Amino acid sequence: MLELDQLSAFYGPAQALFGVSLRVAAGELVVLQGLNGAGKSTLLKAIMGLEVRTEGAIRYQLPSGAVAIERWEIHRRAQAGLGYVAEDRRLFTELTVRENLHVAAGRDAKAHEARALDLFPVLKTLLSRPAAQMSGGQQQMLAIARTLMTGPKILLLDEPCEGIAPVLVESIRDALLALRREGLALLVVEQNRLLASRADRLLWLVAGKVRDS
Ligand code: ATP
Repeated sequence: MLELDQLSAFYGPAQALFGVSLRVAAGELVVLQGLNGAGKSTLLKAIMGLEVRTEGAIRYQLPSGAVAIERWEIHRRAQAGLGYVAEDRRLFTELTVRENLHVAAGRDAKAHEARALDLFPVLKTLLSRPAAQMSGGQQQMLAIARTLMTGPKILLLDEPCEGIAPVLVESIRDALLALRREGLALLVVEQNRLLASRADRLLWLVAGKVRDS
């Protein structure tokens, strides 16, 4: 589904990733771990085309065949099926749950919304609530649900379980496992064992390089 080949990333002159190669297949959950500053967030941003300059190849599987997307703009990557949730979630906190979902609506919005609400039933009971008035875990569910409104084929999630009550972590984990069963590819930066223990593969990032665990 997604393949990185010798991917390096730079913030101006500062290099943050050094020749990272990895693959994530459809129906696979890959969890990325590493110390603070190892480059985990940078890796997701580089795949999405955000903030960093990259060198190396990012290949993505379209129904029509594999394409090199490393020069594509972020919108084109999103349209092609890459879904990203940043660590800070980037919700519109003054808008309600329903409004946050509809901001992201594109083709097949109704079906995507129904699916997202089935995965996160608690959101159904909060549709009229401003995001600012929800717990961190509920906001994280909304951020993932909003990304699902675009019908992604691969999800790139930055610490979806961090700072969240264990019972909500379990809900998020179960939703991600359901998406995996449906064939989505998942690349998730996460230290939480409730999720990491269910990974198909764990990857360790050390100073901008992948080390096998
Ligand atoms: P954390 O767990 O703290 O989020 P991380 O593994 O996600 O860590 P990154 O945030 O990807 O690490 O940072 C990797 C390196 O890139 C660090 O040395 C960091 O200082 C640097 N870096 C991150 N963002 C920027 C930026 N906007 N400008 C310059 N350097 C940055």
